[in-house]
Amino acid sequence: MRPVERGAIPCDKNGNVIIFKEYGDARNYLIGRLGDYCSYCEAPLFTPAIEHVQPKKEGLSPELEKDWCNFLLACTYCNSNKGDKPVNINNLNDYFWADRDNTLRAFRYEKDRIPQIKQSLNATQQQIAQNSLELTGLSRERGHPKFSKKDRRCEKRNEAWGKAERAKLNLNRQPVDCMREQIIDTATSTGFWSVWMTVFQDDTDMRQRLINAFQGTCTQCFDNNTQPIQRMGGNI
Ligand SMILES: [Zn+2]
Repeated sequence: MRPVERGAIPCDKNGNVIIFKEYGDARNYLIGRLGDYCSYCEAPLFTPAIEHVQPKKEGLSPELEKDWCNFLLACTYCNSNKGDKPVNINNLNDYFWADRDNTLRAFRYEKDRIPQIKQSLNATQQQIAQNSLELTGLSRERGHPKFSKKDRRCEKRNEAWGKAERAKLNLNRQPVDCMREQIIDTATSTGFWSVWMTVFQDDTDMRQRLINAFQGTCTQCFDNNTQPIQRMGGNI
């Protein structure tokens, strides 16, 4: 799960903080800050939905419904799976959040598998990571009693994995800068940043390019060798 940085509330051309009349007014600003990707499954988005971290159904005050700090972007699957779950100010710490935590530290990615929880986490962190996967149904794969055939997140993640592996082979054959640029173009249009980061885990240059190229990736979550580090202010 890509750690992202939403940044400060956008300002208008006069430098005044924008007060959103409708939460939908924030959509284009969010896309500009976070890129066209689901904040949970990392799929590329063609019709990004504004995702309320604390959902509207929780009876939010109108202020929080339009609060920039309560927004992420999500795909239909993640959005609808999370939709009615009771996330609120009292249980936010039961989950890892892409805009607050270094979520790459919680999960590892493997070919043909749903995101896996890192064994290096302590028991509490593993439970939080599991809660986070269940929140958006990312813990479901074929064979899971609640798996829906319409849910193509696993399939699309696997497609990205295949592309990343082929890209790595091509880079080994043609280790030139323009090949690296081409791979980044493919990665940003395919999405699933964590998959690309994993396949290129031994290539610091490519990983740095991936961090830079995917709009909104939190650069402070990585050391100079692109290894994930504790996020300031986060729980991981
Ligand atoms: Zn998603």
